[in-house]
Amino acid sequence: MLYLGCHLSSSKGFLQMGKTALSIGANTFQFFTRNPRGSRAKQMDPADTLALRELMRDNGFSAIVAHAPYTLNACSSTPETREFAEQTMADDLRRLEELPGTLYNFHPGSHTGQGMEEGIRLIADQLNRILTPEQHTTVLLETMAGKGTEVGGRFEQLRAILDRVELRDHLGVCLDTCHVHDAGYDIVNDLDGVLREFDRVIGLSRLRAVHLNDSKNPLGSHKDRHEKIGEGFLGLDTFAQIVRHPQLQGLPFCLETPNELPGYAAEIALLRGLE
Ligand code: FE
Ligand code: FE
Ligand code: ZN
Repeated sequence: MLYLGCHLSSSKGFLQMGKTALSIGANTFQFFTRNPRGSRAKQMDPADTLALRELMRDNGFSAIVAHAPYTLNACSSTPETREFAEQTMADDLRRLEELPGTLYNFHPGSHTGQGMEEGIRLIADQLNRILTPEQHTTVLLETMAGKGTEVGGRFEQLRAILDRVELRDHLGVCLDTCHVHDAGYDIVNDLDGVLREFDRVIGLSRLRAVHLNDSKNPLGSHKDRHEKIGEGFLGLDTFAQIVRHPQLQGLPFCLETPNELPGYAAEIALLRGLE
């Protein structure tokens, strides 16, 4: 089964996101848990989340992906910034219990000069304080482009975080195609090799979601600028290989390309045609 979707606005609630997904040929989607700058979260309405769960069940959706605000930084050198990230993530995870089985994706963070090792330690320590044995959400570390002091541009860094977290059964990884490419992993010419490396370092069983984005920049540029599918340095053939790859079957694929809904609908149709 090919699960395809895109990033959707959550402003009209959960059922509406499910309906919007159906209207563009999607059978999964991603949404921000709160406005991307991170502040206020809307109360979740149990009737609304129940209606979405029914829609997802009736239409064969995969798990959906909640994305943490990208401004959170669990490994900032500023204690208040770390504290804000911790409170926000803990609150998001509490609220997501209304949608059991959801994936919660976050950017590991930027160490802001403290060094990679210290960044990794701060992120893992924070996860150790937040994760609970009872939770029904799997928290995903996103692969990053390695821009500035970002943690997560190398698979080894994600592995180091996983190794330090006690409840790592509640952790997984989300592979972003633009990010890994910008980080220097050549998925255009050697997708198999990159997946082998992912498996060797992290383990493919940890891979729980994929972000499908083309890139405006060449391999190893460490930039993180998303492009429409087929219009960047990855190219359509790379996406054909990805959606057909036997080791990626059954994962939710979410587009985060620069598009409005009609553009997303067209990309979803294009990708379904490649399968
Ligand atoms: Fe992201
Ligand atoms: Fe992403
Ligand atoms: Zn990105």
